[in-house]
Amino acid sequence: MDIHEYQAKEILARFGVPVPRGGLAYSPEQAGYRARELGGSAWVVKAQVHSGGRGAAGGVKLCRDEHEIAAFAATLFGKQLVTRQTDANGKGVYRLWVEAASDIAQELYLGFVLDRKSERIMIVASAQGGIDIEELAETNPDSLVRMTIDPATGLAEFQARELAFRLGLKGGQIAQMVTILRACYRAYRDLDAVMVEVNPLVVKGNGDLVALDAKMSFDTNAMFRQAAVAELRDRSQEDPRESTAGDHGLAYVGLTGDIGCIINGAGLAMATMDMIHLAGGEPANFLDIGGGASPERVVRAFQTVLADRNVGVVLVNIFAGINRCDWVADGVVTAYRQLELTLPVVVRLAGTNVEAGRRIIEQSGLPLISVGTLADAAAAAVAARPALAA
Ligand code: GDP
Ligand code: MN
Repeated sequence: MDIHEYQAKEILARFGVPVPRGGLAYSPEQAGYRARELGGSAWVVKAQVHSGGRGAAGGVKLCRDEHEIAAFAATLFGKQLVTRQTDANGKGVYRLWVEAASDIAQELYLGFVLDRKSERIMIVASAQGGIDIEELAETNPDSLVRMTIDPATGLAEFQARELAFRLGLKGGQIAQMVTILRACYRAYRDLDAVMVEVNPLVVKGNGDLVALDAKMSFDTNAMFRQAAVAELRDRSQEDPRESTAGDHGLAYVGLTGDIGCIINGAGLAMATMDMIHLAGGEPANFLDIGGGASPERVVRAFQTVLADRNVGVVLVNIFAGINRCDWVADGVVTAYRQLELTLPVVVRLAGTNVEAGRRIIEQSGLPLISVGTLADAAAAAVAARPALAA
């Protein structure tokens, strides 16, 4: 789960990271008012969307007076901001962050990520920040400093000092960097984060360090014990198809092809994606109906998958353990009739009550394509497409 920059800054500040002063705005007028409240003579107006790369996309602007702020804010509100990290639809701008501008002497990069290979939290930093880590890794890999932290011992002061030295920081900046590193680490660990990124972390004209941008991402599976973080969820930033499916206990992933997939279990979903590719097709999405799928759930799954206009064929692939093939088959038949479907539906059932399930499909009198194996299912789904286009 992602949160907004201003929320990440609020959290990190609570742990001891210095951040610029700022205020949130829901309208151009409010943006101007926030600047007056903050005082000073320069402000940065920043679109709050769940994406980086806002600066390059026109979502961040340094403004000199209230009129400039209001005018820029007016162009942003309600807009879909497309960045190099979003899809072509972009993310809706409904909140702006107005910040007292900082004068920048140097931009550094600082990130905390989960390193699955070493089973540790990894700090990645660079004295040449301000650009994306992906770009940094390509254009200036030697500038990257990495350090893995054993969660059993945490980030020791000597490690934080060593990192600060390796970034070339001097004098009082070392102590400031140690404070920032340890604060970020504690925020990461205490709040079940999977990513904390400060890019840029800047050295100001006066030599002080401040987090100019902040990004945090959290482990969705831990949100049951992080109520305060869970509340920061902003549905306007999510793919509506995925959040609606989630509300019904279905895991949905949107893709770009034309074969809609209803599957049980993430592993089988992966295998099915591979088989579709192998057969020369492209999945439009996949929906994991999980275990114990009732006919009602299967109908809901069809509705969700068919909400994607690109779907031309539906492939149902169920390996029933906890599930029952006859229930799923009932669901498929009900969905076909109730939703008045006309598109081809390929059904592959295996496992518990498979004979009963196949009988329901075959005796339904509906043009359902019943197949026995995963390979046949993928081939049948791909073959059913041109018939549709013709
Ligand atoms: P991102 O593009 O989504 O990562 O947004 P950032 O918050 O990182 O802002 C993009 C860029 O805008 C930064 O890398 C800075 O170069 C610039 N910027 C942001 N805030 C300030 C500021 O207070 N003063 C100045 N001079 N530049 C800023
Ligand atoms: Mn940034």
